[in-house]
Amino acid sequence: MSEQKTIFGRIIDKEIPAQIVYEDDLCLAFRDINPQAPIHILVIPKKPIPSLADAEDEDQQLLGHLLLVLKKIAAQEGLENGYRTVLNTREDGGQEVDHLHFHLLGKRKMKWPPG
Ligand code: AMP
Repeated sequence: MSEQKTIFGRIIDKEIPAQIVYEDDLCLAFRDINPQAPIHILVIPKKPIPSLADAEDEDQQLLGHLLLVLKKIAAQEGLENGYRTVLNTREDGGQEVDHLHFHLLGKRKMKWPPG
């Protein structure tokens, strides 16, 4: 029985194209198809964790790895002036794709609070 693959699972498996900016054994980063800032990149684990609410204690190192990768990509993209990281979780969090992903947004001044 095959599990339903999300659009991000299909990007990981290279079934659909994406503008990949970083990849290693544990994660993949690519440009958001509908950017909300001049720089808008998604960082995702290759492990198909649906959301932060579904993460387990055993994912601790993986989640830390994602944040450090995000930091490196921010430097690579010239975001030394700062950036916004977003992790939407489930319906009320505004999550649309059920594969855990961090947004990295930069090159514009962000507002607070978010909408
Ligand atoms: P979220 O609302 O946090 O689940 O964010 C999902 C994000 O995935 C949105 O910003 C979408 O624009 C983005 N997205 C959806 N499909 C693709 C795709 N094929 N390639 C790149 N980004 C995508």
